[in-house]
Amino acid sequence: MSEIHFQEKFEERHIGPSTDETEAMLETIGLRHLDELIDETVPARIRVTHPLQLPAAQTEVAYLRKMKAVADKNKVFKSYIGQGYYDVILPGVIQRNVFENPGWYTQYTPYQAEIAQGRLQALLNFQTMVIDLTGMEIANASLLDEATAAAEAMFMQYGLRKNKSANTYFVVETVFPQTLDVLRTRALSYGINLQVGNPFEIPDTDTIFGVLVQYPDGDGALSDYKALVEQLHVRDISVCAVADLLSLTLLTPPGEWGADVVVGSTQRFGIPMGFGGPHAAYLATKEAYKRNIPGRIIGVTVDSNGAYALRMALQTREQHIRRDKASSNICTAQALLAIMAGFYAAYHGPKGLRKIAGRIHGLATLADRALQQLGYRQLNASYFDTLRVEVGELSGPLHAEALNNEINLLYRGAVVNISMDETTTYEDVEALIRVFAKLKGKSLNDIDLAALAEDNLSVIPQTLLRTSRYLTHPVFNSFHSEHEMLRYIKSLEARDLSLCHSMIPLGSCTMKLNATTEMVPVTWPEFGGLHPFAPADQTGGYMQIISELNGWLSEITGFAKVSFQPNSGAQGEYAGLMVIRAYHESLGEGHRNVVLIPASAHGTNPASASMAGMQVVVVRCDERGNIDVGDLRAKTEAHAANLAAVMVTYPSTHGVFEEPIVEICDLIHQYGGQVYMDGANMNAQVGLTSPGLIGADVCHLNLHKTFCIPHGGGGPGMGPIGVAEHLVPFLPNHPVVEVSSAQGISAVSAAPWGSASILLISHAYIAMMGSEGLTRATKFAILNANYLKTRLESHYPILYAGVNGRCAHELILDCRAFKTIGIEVGDIAKRLMDYGFHAPTVSFPVAGTLMIEPTESESKAELDRFCDALIAIRGEIAAIEQGQSDRENNLLKGAPHTIAMVCADTWDRPYTRSQAAFPLSFVRDHKFWPSVGRVNDSQGDRMLICACPPVDAYDQVEAY
Ligand SMILES: *Cc1c(COP(=O)(O)O)cnc(C)c1O
Repeated sequence: MSEIHFQEKFEERHIGPSTDETEAMLETIGLRHLDELIDETVPARIRVTHPLQLPAAQTEVAYLRKMKAVADKNKVFKSYIGQGYYDVILPGVIQRNVFENPGWYTQYTPYQAEIAQGRLQALLNFQTMVIDLTGMEIANASLLDEATAAAEAMFMQYGLRKNKSANTYFVVETVFPQTLDVLRTRALSYGINLQVGNPFEIPDTDTIFGVLVQYPDGDGALSDYKALVEQLHVRDISVCAVADLLSLTLLTPPGEWGADVVVGSTQRFGIPMGFGGPHAAYLATKEAYKRNIPGRIIGVTVDSNGAYALRMALQTREQHIRRDKASSNICTAQALLAIMAGFYAAYHGPKGLRKIAGRIHGLATLADRALQQLGYRQLNASYFDTLRVEVGELSGPLHAEALNNEINLLYRGAVVNISMDETTTYEDVEALIRVFAKLKGKSLNDIDLAALAEDNLSVIPQTLLRTSRYLTHPVFNSFHSEHEMLRYIKSLEARDLSLCHSMIPLGSCTMKLNATTEMVPVTWPEFGGLHPFAPADQTGGYMQIISELNGWLSEITGFAKVSFQPNSGAQGEYAGLMVIRAYHESLGEGHRNVVLIPASAHGTNPASASMAGMQVVVVRCDERGNIDVGDLRAKTEAHAANLAAVMVTYPSTHGVFEEPIVEICDLIHQYGGQVYMDGANMNAQVGLTSPGLIGADVCHLNLHKTFCIPHGGGGPGMGPIGVAEHLVPFLPNHPVVEVSSAQGISAVSAAPWGSASILLISHAYIAMMGSEGLTRATKFAILNANYLKTRLESHYPILYAGVNGRCAHELILDCRAFKTIGIEVGDIAKRLMDYGFHAPTVSFPVAGTLMIEPTESESKAELDRFCDALIAIRGEIAAIEQGQSDRENNLLKGAPHTIAMVCADTWDRPYTRSQAAFPLSFVRDHKFWPSVGRVNDSQGDRMLICACPPVDAYDQVEAY
């Protein structure tokens, strides 16, 4: 072929092994063709018979060019819609060096603390910011969005209620509609009765266990809740406040008026609206409730040298690990967005934030007075940023005139709401007032706006003015120049291992390439600047992306339709189960509430099932790691009358394509149940088989695993669910934007399409890979795993394999035998850091093992380095077995080794410094230094510190 027509294929950049490498790898595993391996691995009866019907693959250049045209179909008008989404100014230094930087966005969840101190610190900053601004004692490291955070708070309050027969939750009537709808969904599954009304008129019954108020309320008005909260506490009723964090720089924080839990969004801290997300929500509460907090909490501890170190605190309490005892299923949250919000606070500091909030408030009062001079009535007596203007029958003409001027307001019958934000300027207020003036037959000249602007008025009542200090820690007072900020961001980034350094072989988490081209459109203003409730004729670009992606993912999963609402895999599970529940109800079988779950399932499966109000029945696995079909049959029959569903992961969490999967689906269907497939392992299915083909009814997709959304250090993610035809009508709807049918369940997320802006990433991946590329990616994921298996199986026992001795896309190394010489799987994980690698998944799904998933994106060269490291570590273990190394003081127990240890003036270990730090030659060429020694887990949990300790306390920490 003439080179003139040569077009570079993205697929060849995404897939790691070159043609030569592929040949060599196949030879190592004893096969000639990749397809032979696939035939040996994937059962023939579930293989697809024709290729995926997808558009031809596009080059990276062509894709970006096309996306520019798609972006132009989004119209970015000036938004005053508010309702939890506000335009922001993302500081360039944060946009380029965090949001657009793979050193931050490709990190894994910080389970391996020693190589994650940077993001742990950034998340601790976030927690400190939330604690300070809300006036509470403890906060977590983010939740998915404001509405689900409110639902988590409701569950917390329910769990903590004193009167166990109380089951009514009272919600303020002005709460944002999406928050109320998500509360409805959650309340339904737990049998909680929601009552909506005026909080100052709460009925005097003993059935109410909790109250939720919003501050400022959903219409922007301010109320003083202090006396109310006192009365409610006397009645043993707890209070949750949904609070706008930015407003709390000016307002008395809920912690000072007695709230028990405070939740909300941190979107206003520099995070683009992105048509709904991703944004980090927060949850803060009292110290006494620390064991009831959903999600992850970062805490301070010490390392092996007694120095300050951070880790995820109370990890065994992590909600999804508590399986069916869990009161939340949060796993992936919004780490990257929380990190950015924390940096935003550090960049502006308390004074800067106060100025931003003050300007917003000032512009709101200015517009208020101008509107009054024009003869309009403004209904909020006191407010932070939102006006409610009575417009009567002018509403229609106002709407038209505002659109003419590219202004979006919130229209509510005879009233319009106007919310100011960080981007609003004096000129914007002029433009706004001009529109309102015109409707009254007047002009801007009829009022003296400049004179009004002279006196900067506040309408916040004295009793609600904040007097307490906040963000006093040096972290929030040191980095206000761009150089200081840049260096602070970089100093934290340098402590973290990410995909920029080496492969992150996390079984079940699919840490594949997050290609730059896939990320580029996410930060284009046409995608970042759109409000999720913007009128449909302004959102053509997003609608095109969402509808194309819906079609493509339906084709890939073999389903009829996809819902993009769930913001994580676990939320997808919950949504899918609620859809199944609605389906059973529609058939008059609402009593079906038993969910069968194999013992090997991920902890979020039982957690989601119990959140959906279902009863979990555990099904055994056999000694090969497969579902024990006999036990499944027995339990299906035993629970036939109430069987709702089975939840299966495929290939199994043990990394095997189980042969009887079709029988399993048939069996469940025969007894009237539905099959929920956990799609976390979709990377082994795409193009080869599909959940629909296998016989499942619902499946979630972790777009942040298989479909290239980066992990972000623990989020964002997207967990859309695909469903078969009969379940389509029940997909989640939304109270503001219709996205399903009248039969649809109520919302599971705040935004209609979840974290819409990161759908662009998965869209790019599929568009650039095409049918052939996606299928080849799956084959290479399986090849890479089997190559590792062949190279490692003479050094470590490998647990489980398919009938032909092949694994799927991941494999499990059994490290349990080393316990006899005192080596734990965790020691291997820590020692891998010295070799520059992140550990595989530790002790899931089998305790004492490592689960490795290389993905298709790793080259043979990288796979070989990783194998060399594991084989060298096996040699270090052998030295202990043979008595050449000490059982307590050895390379594994001493790991990881920091630069400070290796460069110290004294070295008293029974191995050399170079054995410690440079165990293989490639490590010398590219050394990644863990920034702290091994962290002390129990110390951190005994003395829980979840905010930045005061500077003078750092010495004390060191002295522990
Ligand atoms: C990752 C994972 C989940 C949970 O997904 P999140 O997006 O973290 O909520 C569920 N099941 C399995 C098997 C997983 O690997």
